[in-house]
Amino acid sequence: MTTVDESAGTNSDGEKVRPGRTLERSGGTSRIDVEGVGGDLADVPFPDLVAEMIRRLGDNPAREGLLKTPERVEKSLQFLTRGYALSAEETVGDALFAERHHNMVIVKDIEMYSLCEHHMLPFFGKVHIAYIPDGNIVGLSKVARLVEVFARRLQVQERLTEEIAQSLWEVIQPQGVGVVIEAHHLCMMMRGVEKQNSWTITSAMRGAFLEDARTRDEFLRLCMSDHRPLR
Ligand SMILES: [Zn+2]
Repeated sequence: MTTVDESAGTNSDGEKVRPGRTLERSGGTSRIDVEGVGGDLADVPFPDLVAEMIRRLGDNPAREGLLKTPERVEKSLQFLTRGYALSAEETVGDALFAERHHNMVIVKDIEMYSLCEHHMLPFFGKVHIAYIPDGNIVGLSKVARLVEVFARRLQVQERLTEEIAQSLWEVIQPQGVGVVIEAHHLCMMMRGVEKQNSWTITSAMRGAFLEDARTRDEFLRLCMSDHRPLR
Protein backbone atom coordinates (compact mmCIF):
# COMPACT_ATOMS: atom_id res chain seq x y z
CA MET A 1 0.00 0.00 0.00
CA THR A 2 1.22 3.46 -0.83
CA THR A 3 0.25 6.30 1.39
CA VAL A 4 0.70 9.97 0.88
CA ASP A 5 2.08 11.46 4.01
CA GLU A 6 0.18 14.68 4.59
CA SER A 7 1.85 15.56 7.86
CA ALA A 8 4.61 18.07 8.12
CA GLY A 9 7.69 17.34 10.16
CA THR A 10 10.34 14.69 9.94
CA ASN A 11 10.13 11.17 8.56
CA SER A 12 11.43 8.05 10.29
CA ASP A 13 14.96 8.78 9.05
CA GLY A 14 14.84 12.20 10.66
CA GLU A 15 14.79 13.99 7.33
CA LYS A 16 12.67 17.09 7.00
CA VAL A 17 9.60 16.50 4.87
CA ARG A 18 7.07 18.99 3.65
CA PRO A 19 3.34 18.32 3.87
CA GLY A 20 1.98 16.04 1.15
CA ARG A 21 5.29 15.73 -0.64
CA THR A 22 6.66 12.38 0.39
CA LEU A 23 5.29 9.17 -1.06
CA GLU A 24 6.05 6.42 1.37
CA ARG A 25 5.64 2.73 0.67
CA SER A 26 4.68 0.53 3.59
CA GLY A 27 7.70 -1.15 5.08
CA GLY A 28 9.69 1.93 4.24
CA THR A 29 11.96 0.01 1.89
CA SER A 30 11.43 2.18 -1.14
CA ARG A 31 10.79 5.77 -0.41
CA ILE A 32 10.33 8.26 -3.18
CA ASP A 33 11.25 11.74 -2.17
CA VAL A 34 9.31 13.91 -4.54
CA GLU A 35 11.91 16.67 -4.19
CA GLY A 36 14.50 14.30 -5.57
CA VAL A 37 12.75 13.66 -8.87
CA GLY A 38 12.53 17.21 -10.06
CA GLY A 39 10.43 19.44 -7.88
CA ASP A 40 6.86 19.47 -6.71
CA LEU A 41 4.79 16.90 -8.57
CA ALA A 42 1.62 18.56 -7.28
CA ASP A 43 2.24 21.38 -9.76
CA VAL A 44 2.92 19.11 -12.75
CA PRO A 45 -0.01 18.95 -15.19
CA PHE A 46 -1.62 15.53 -15.30
CA PRO A 47 -0.80 14.88 -18.98
CA ASP A 48 2.89 15.49 -18.25
CA LEU A 49 2.80 12.85 -15.53
CA VAL A 50 1.30 10.39 -18.01
CA ALA A 51 3.89 11.28 -20.65
CA GLU A 52 6.65 10.65 -18.11
CA MET A 53 5.08 7.31 -17.23
CA ILE A 54 5.05 6.33 -20.91
CA ARG A 55 8.71 7.36 -21.17
CA ARG A 56 9.68 5.26 -18.15
CA LEU A 57 7.81 2.30 -19.54
CA GLY A 58 10.10 2.47 -22.56
CA ASP A 59 8.03 4.18 -25.23
CA ASN A 60 8.20 7.60 -26.80
CA PRO A 61 5.29 9.88 -25.82
CA ALA A 62 6.18 12.11 -28.79
CA ARG A 63 5.47 9.50 -31.43
CA GLU A 64 2.33 10.07 -33.43
CA GLY A 65 0.12 7.37 -31.95
CA LEU A 66 0.82 8.52 -28.40
CA LEU A 67 0.66 12.28 -28.93
CA LYS A 68 -2.82 12.76 -27.51
CA THR A 69 -2.66 9.81 -25.12
CA PRO A 70 -1.74 11.79 -21.98
CA GLU A 71 -4.83 14.02 -22.35
CA ARG A 72 -7.00 11.01 -23.11
CA VAL A 73 -5.71 9.14 -20.07
CA GLU A 74 -6.46 12.12 -17.84
CA LYS A 75 -10.04 12.38 -19.14
CA SER A 76 -10.52 8.65 -18.91
CA LEU A 77 -9.24 8.39 -15.34
CA GLN A 78 -11.32 11.38 -14.27
CA PHE A 79 -14.40 9.61 -15.64
CA LEU A 80 -13.47 6.29 -14.04
CA THR A 81 -13.04 7.93 -10.63
CA ARG A 82 -15.93 10.41 -10.77
CA GLY A 83 -17.53 8.68 -7.78
CA TYR A 84 -15.34 10.78 -5.48
CA ALA A 85 -17.47 13.78 -6.45
CA LEU A 86 -20.76 11.95 -5.85
CA SER A 87 -22.61 11.14 -2.65
CA ALA A 88 -25.30 8.59 -1.91
CA GLU A 89 -27.65 11.18 -0.42
CA GLU A 90 -27.46 13.47 -3.45
CA THR A 91 -27.76 10.56 -5.87
CA VAL A 92 -30.96 9.24 -4.31
CA GLY A 93 -32.22 12.80 -3.83
CA ASP A 94 -35.99 12.95 -3.50
CA ALA A 95 -36.57 9.56 -5.18
CA LEU A 96 -37.75 8.04 -1.91
CA PHE A 97 -41.43 7.21 -1.90
CA ALA A 98 -43.67 6.28 1.01
CA GLU A 99 -45.03 2.80 0.31
CA ARG A 100 -46.46 0.07 2.49
CA HIS A 101 -45.01 -2.72 0.38
CA HIS A 102 -43.23 -5.14 2.71
CA ASN A 103 -41.95 -7.73 0.27
CA MET A 104 -38.46 -8.14 -1.02
CA VAL A 105 -37.42 -5.87 -3.91
CA ILE A 106 -34.56 -7.25 -6.02
CA VAL A 107 -32.59 -5.40 -8.68
CA LYS A 108 -30.45 -7.95 -10.50
CA ASP A 109 -27.54 -7.76 -12.93
CA ILE A 110 -26.55 -4.13 -12.47
CA GLU A 111 -23.43 -3.63 -14.56
CA MET A 112 -20.43 -2.55 -12.55
CA TYR A 113 -17.01 -1.28 -13.62
CA SER A 114 -14.44 -0.29 -11.07
CA LEU A 115 -10.68 0.06 -10.62
CA CYS A 116 -8.79 -2.06 -8.12
CA GLU A 117 -6.91 0.17 -5.76
CA HIS A 118 -3.84 -2.07 -5.71
CA HIS A 119 -3.07 -2.03 -9.42
CA MET A 120 -5.48 0.54 -10.85
CA LEU A 121 -6.68 -2.16 -13.23
CA PRO A 122 -10.38 -2.75 -13.89
CA PHE A 123 -12.56 -5.18 -12.10
CA PHE A 124 -16.02 -5.57 -13.52
CA GLY A 125 -19.12 -7.66 -13.21
CA LYS A 126 -22.62 -7.59 -11.82
CA VAL A 127 -24.24 -6.30 -8.68
CA HIS A 128 -27.43 -7.77 -7.26
CA ILE A 129 -29.27 -5.73 -4.67
CA ALA A 130 -32.28 -6.57 -2.55
CA TYR A 131 -34.08 -4.82 0.23
CA ILE A 132 -37.24 -5.19 2.26
CA PRO A 133 -38.94 -1.80 2.59
CA ASP A 134 -40.01 -0.40 5.93
CA GLY A 135 -42.16 2.49 4.79
CA ASN A 136 -39.96 3.75 1.95
CA ILE A 137 -39.13 2.48 -1.51
CA VAL A 138 -36.50 4.01 -3.76
CA GLY A 139 -36.63 4.64 -7.52
CA LEU A 140 -35.06 1.59 -9.20
CA SER A 141 -32.78 3.61 -11.45
CA LYS A 142 -31.39 5.27 -8.32
CA VAL A 143 -30.27 1.89 -7.05
CA ALA A 144 -28.12 1.47 -10.16
CA ARG A 145 -26.82 5.03 -9.82
CA LEU A 146 -25.84 4.29 -6.24
CA VAL A 147 -23.55 1.52 -7.50
CA GLU A 148 -21.75 4.14 -9.64
CA VAL A 149 -21.13 6.37 -6.62
CA PHE A 150 -18.92 3.73 -5.02
CA ALA A 151 -17.70 1.75 -8.06
CA ARG A 152 -16.22 4.82 -9.74
CA ARG A 153 -13.40 5.12 -7.27
CA LEU A 154 -10.25 3.18 -6.46
CA GLN A 155 -11.76 0.20 -4.75
CA VAL A 156 -11.55 -3.33 -3.47
CA GLN A 157 -14.57 -5.51 -4.17
CA GLU A 158 -15.17 -6.28 -0.50
CA ARG A 159 -15.41 -2.60 0.48
CA LEU A 160 -17.50 -1.74 -2.58
CA THR A 161 -20.04 -4.38 -1.51
CA GLU A 162 -20.12 -3.06 2.05
CA GLU A 163 -20.42 0.59 1.00
CA ILE A 164 -23.37 -0.09 -1.30
CA ALA A 165 -25.14 -2.08 1.42
CA GLN A 166 -24.45 0.52 4.11
CA SER A 167 -25.59 3.46 2.00
CA LEU A 168 -28.88 1.73 1.12
CA TRP A 169 -29.29 0.82 4.79
CA GLU A 170 -28.87 4.46 5.80
CA VAL A 171 -30.75 6.16 2.95
CA ILE A 172 -33.82 3.88 2.61
CA GLN A 173 -33.89 2.69 6.25
CA PRO A 174 -35.39 -0.63 5.21
CA GLN A 175 -35.99 -3.79 7.25
CA GLY A 176 -33.00 -5.34 5.55
CA VAL A 177 -30.53 -5.06 2.69
CA GLY A 178 -28.54 -7.64 0.76
CA VAL A 179 -25.84 -6.97 -1.81
CA VAL A 180 -23.97 -9.56 -3.89
CA ILE A 181 -21.21 -8.68 -6.35
CA GLU A 182 -19.63 -11.10 -8.79
CA ALA A 183 -16.65 -9.78 -10.66
CA HIS A 184 -13.65 -10.54 -12.81
CA HIS A 185 -10.42 -8.82 -11.86
CA LEU A 186 -8.07 -7.88 -14.68
CA CYS A 187 -5.19 -7.72 -12.20
CA MET A 188 -5.70 -11.45 -11.70
CA MET A 189 -6.40 -12.21 -15.34
CA MET A 190 -3.66 -10.19 -17.05
CA ARG A 191 -0.91 -10.39 -14.46
CA GLY A 192 0.00 -12.20 -11.26
CA VAL A 193 -1.59 -15.62 -11.16
CA GLU A 194 -3.14 -15.17 -14.64
CA LYS A 195 -6.30 -16.98 -13.67
CA GLN A 196 -8.43 -16.08 -16.68
CA ASN A 197 -11.73 -17.55 -15.62
CA SER A 198 -11.86 -17.04 -11.92
CA TRP A 199 -14.37 -14.66 -10.52
CA THR A 200 -14.88 -13.33 -7.07
CA ILE A 201 -18.18 -13.21 -5.23
CA THR A 202 -18.71 -10.95 -2.25
CA SER A 203 -21.80 -10.25 -0.20
CA ALA A 204 -22.90 -7.80 2.46
CA MET A 205 -26.10 -8.08 4.50
CA ARG A 206 -27.92 -5.81 6.90
CA GLY A 207 -30.99 -6.23 9.12
CA ALA A 208 -33.40 -9.00 8.14
CA PHE A 209 -30.89 -10.44 5.68
CA LEU A 210 -28.48 -11.00 8.54
CA GLU A 211 -30.99 -12.14 11.11
CA ASP A 212 -33.28 -14.35 9.05
CA ALA A 213 -31.68 -17.24 7.15
CA ARG A 214 -34.83 -17.75 5.04
CA THR A 215 -34.77 -14.15 3.82
CA ARG A 216 -31.08 -14.39 3.02
CA ASP A 217 -31.53 -17.74 1.23
CA GLU A 218 -34.44 -16.41 -0.82
CA PHE A 219 -32.33 -13.47 -1.97
CA LEU A 220 -29.32 -15.62 -2.81
CA ARG A 221 -31.49 -18.13 -4.66
CA LEU A 222 -33.25 -15.43 -6.69
CA CYS A 223 -30.12 -13.48 -7.53
CA MET A 224 -28.04 -16.49 -8.47
CA SER A 225 -30.80 -18.33 -10.36
CA ASP A 226 -30.53 -18.60 -14.13
CA HIS A 227 -26.96 -17.66 -13.58
CA ARG A 228 -24.88 -17.06 -16.65
CA PRO A 229 -21.16 -16.89 -16.23
CA LEU A 230 -19.68 -13.51 -17.01
CA ARG A 231 -18.17 -13.07 -20.40
ZN1 LIG B 1 -5.56 -5.52 -8.27
